[in-house]
Amino acid sequence: MQTLFPQVTINPFNADSFNEAVMSTYARFPLALERGAGCRVWDTDGREYLDFVAGIATCTLGHAHPAMVEAVTRQIQKLHHVSNLYYIPEQGELAKWIVDHSCADRVFFCNSGAEANEGAIKLARKYAHTVLDIEQPIILTASGSFHGRTLATITATAQPKYQKYFDPLVPGFDYVAYNDIRALEAAISELDEGDYGVAAILLEPLQGEGGVRPGDVEYFQRVREICDETGILLIFDEVQVGMGRSGKLWGYENLGVEPDIFTSAKGLGGGIPIGALMSKKFCDVFKPGEHASTFGGNPFVCGVALSVCQTLEKENILQNVQDRGEQLRNGLRAIASKYPDLITEVRGWGLINGMELAADIELTAPDIVKAAIDNGLLLVPAGPKVVRFVPPLIVTEAEVKMALQALDKAIATVATE
Ligand SMILES: *Cc1c(COP(=O)(O)O)cnc(C)c1O
Repeated sequence: MQTLFPQVTINPFNADSFNEAVMSTYARFPLALERGAGCRVWDTDGREYLDFVAGIATCTLGHAHPAMVEAVTRQIQKLHHVSNLYYIPEQGELAKWIVDHSCADRVFFCNSGAEANEGAIKLARKYAHTVLDIEQPIILTASGSFHGRTLATITATAQPKYQKYFDPLVPGFDYVAYNDIRALEAAISELDEGDYGVAAILLEPLQGEGGVRPGDVEYFQRVREICDETGILLIFDEVQVGMGRSGKLWGYENLGVEPDIFTSAKGLGGGIPIGALMSKKFCDVFKPGEHASTFGGNPFVCGVALSVCQTLEKENILQNVQDRGEQLRNGLRAIASKYPDLITEVRGWGLINGMELAADIELTAPDIVKAAIDNGLLLVPAGPKVVRFVPPLIVTEAEVKMALQALDKAIATVATE
């Protein structure tokens, strides 16, 4: 694949001066990436890597895809930002595409996954006050979940490691075990007391950061029934698993249930920052002035995201996600079978897959990721014991094969240490 622009070289890269100027919120791998094409990226020393991270399940069409290059160029030349004070045609077209391709009736655009989830939380609270007549609404979320890094979304994220030192947290959240219907039923009846009541249940159809844990079909179908019986809103966080990553356009299609509200971000813009909040039925809960975003839905991001959506459809990429996903899982299982003491499970949907390491050994997911980098393959952990595979959705059969070979070599080096 050809890029339109000359290669920019920031070599030699100086990590010390980087760290002097940038807050140390990330433990970074010692690698500075400067260009990409398709599923390949190159570092500042010119080394090539196969990218099975894709900006963490974000670069749907890989790097420098001609459709994105064309859309970015066209949109920046035409109009890139105005304000939601006015009608934005690209925003309307993207919303229409999402509505035509999901259970949603209407869309609100913002800039990130956390911000989309914030919108969902606000919508659920207003719905609870104005429709369910609950004075102290509670939103239930699942242990092991991940919903973002703002104050409300770290509170929604039922993992203490994301909350430590940031208290007081936001009130109005409670947690239940994932895929456990008894725990959910118990929590709902326990919380229905005085002014309190459950307003919404917020779940990932497949938990991404929590270790690539797919939702259980029976569990999700029963959750849907409970919500239908009680009026509790069912909210799905599709930020990581949505936009084709699971082999279906939306993660919920793997579970046979539709949410009342769902959120998207990561893969939606193929790597340009966009978030979206989708609602079915409960679309006019927000009135003008009650929720907003300066950048949300601007002509630039919507024009580019629309081209990503149309390319996904036109090039039948969902079929590739299913085929390459199966190839990848088969290959991972073949590797796992060589190391039964190290690798306990391979699981996932489409092109979001996890390889779990045994709990009783010292080897961690970051150890495997480091060894993979040394073998030219970029991977990302999902928690301390799960290695995650989330390549661009355009990954080819040959690239999956290459990645499996690199991983096999990488594991051989750490397994003998
Ligand atoms: C990444 C992620 C988020 C947060 O998205 P940001 O764009 O980083 O705010 C929320 N939910 C899920 C499931 C995610 O994977």
